[in-house]
Order: sequence, then C-alpha cells, then structure tokens
Amino acid sequence: MKELNVITKGKETRKDKSVLLFSGGMDSVMFDLLLKPDVLLYAPTGSNYETIETAKIKQLADDNIIDGDKLIIMEDTINLAPFERDDLIVPNRNAYLVLLASHFGETIYLGSVYGDRSFDKDKTFYQLMENLLNHMWSEQHWTEERKFNVTSPYKDTTKTELIKQYVAAGGKTQHILDSYSCYRGEPIACGHCKPCVRKAVALICNDVHVPKGYFELPPMEAPWIDAVLPAMQCGEYRGREDAEFIEALWKYTDDKHAALHSGS
Ligand SMILES: [Zn+2]
Repeated sequence: MKELNVITKGKETRKDKSVLLFSGGMDSVMFDLLLKPDVLLYAPTGSNYETIETAKIKQLADDNIIDGDKLIIMEDTINLAPFERDDLIVPNRNAYLVLLASHFGETIYLGSVYGDRSFDKDKTFYQLMENLLNHMWSEQHWTEERKFNVTSPYKDTTKTELIKQYVAAGGKTQHILDSYSCYRGEPIACGHCKPCVRKAVALICNDVHVPKGYFELPPMEAPWIDAVLPAMQCGEYRGREDAEFIEALWKYTDDKHAALHSGS
C-alpha cells in the first residue's frame, strides 16, 4: 500500500513540455514532424484494433520514423472497451486522453484535421478542456499553478493539404505509408473503413504511389461511398474535403481505365 502523507512532501510542478496524443496513424506521424512535440503519448483504450496498433507504433520507433525516446505507451491505464459503440465511436474518449496528457505537459496537441466531425475534436472542446485543466491545476496546497494550452493547430487543414505541408517540411511519403490507421485491426489495412478511405484520398490527391496490396481492397470502391456521394457532391459531407474525395474518385477511375486499355 502507498504511504499516506497528510502533510504532503512536495507540490506538483510545471512540466514545461508539449504532448502529442499519438495514435500511429498518418496524421500522428505528420504532426510529429511538423509540431516537434516533446512527448508522444499513446494510450490504448481497449479497442479491438489496438493490439496491431500498438505493434505498429513500436515498429515506427524501431524504424526511427518516430523518436522512441519521446514515446510513452500507457498500457493498462484506461479501458473504454465497455463504452465502444458498434460504429467504433467511444464517447468521451478524447476527454480522457487530454486528462491523461495533462500529467506530462502543459501544451497538449490533438491530432485532428479538417473533416473530423465529432464534438470532442472541435474548437469548443479544446477551449472547455483547457478551462477545466486550468481550474483544476490552480495554485493550491498540492500543486503549483499550471496553465494549459489544449490545441489542434491543423484543425483547418485537410489531410490532403497536411501531406503537402509535411512533404514541404522534409517529410517522407514512405513514412505515411508506414503509418497505420485501419479500424479492422489486421496487419494489412482493409481499404474499406473510413480511416483507410480518407488516407487513400489524401495519398491519391498528392500523387503518392500506393503499392499494390497495400490495401486489401481498393479504397475508392468501398461500398459506403455510394451512400454519401450525393452529400459529397454538394460539399455537405465533410465540407472542403468533399472536393478532394471526388478528385480522388476521378483519378482512380481514370487510372483504372488507362490500365485496362494498356492491357496491364
Ligand atoms: Zn481499414
């Protein structure tokens, strides 16, 4: 049992560090290069795809795509599996993760981009979490004052635009391919879940060659695309990202026809 000190020996102190909530996905890898955080924090929360996600993140460190010394993996800390919905949404997830990140630094980066639609990834959420942390970490008997900045600097940047900025900053597109963000949880990305399709759209729009077999099934043929296409054509699905999605569909169809006619 922990020794209890009614009169505490010391106070919590400022960490003066920046923390990126890291998932091992393409956005995470690009944010690491662009934002240069002090800490990459990965906290598996009990999803069915995280065994492979954890393995892929360790691989990124082993391959020096990310700095392993900055990586903190908090296994067996938060289990949100009982709250995972059938669409894999986990309500409150980002709030738990921001609270966890607050133990490591005062600047907390969330890896959201334009087109992410949840209310736990928007500007109101960041501001509310920042206010909550600032309140809880006010100067008091057990802690000195810690002032937080909860932010997502690329919230207005689409995934396609993010790749352009990442490449301009010296990032390698191969490292994007080495990242993993499939919901299925198998070593090969499925190609048809939303993270797979959004990744494919950003890669196609940036003319990044995706090797054959990288996705098990062709992302631009995912069956759910038909259902959201009418909304996309009006720019009402994910706003600015919709035009990129449609551009990727065109490019994919053109390439497929060209391959057919060349007999390859
Ligand atoms: Zn997938």
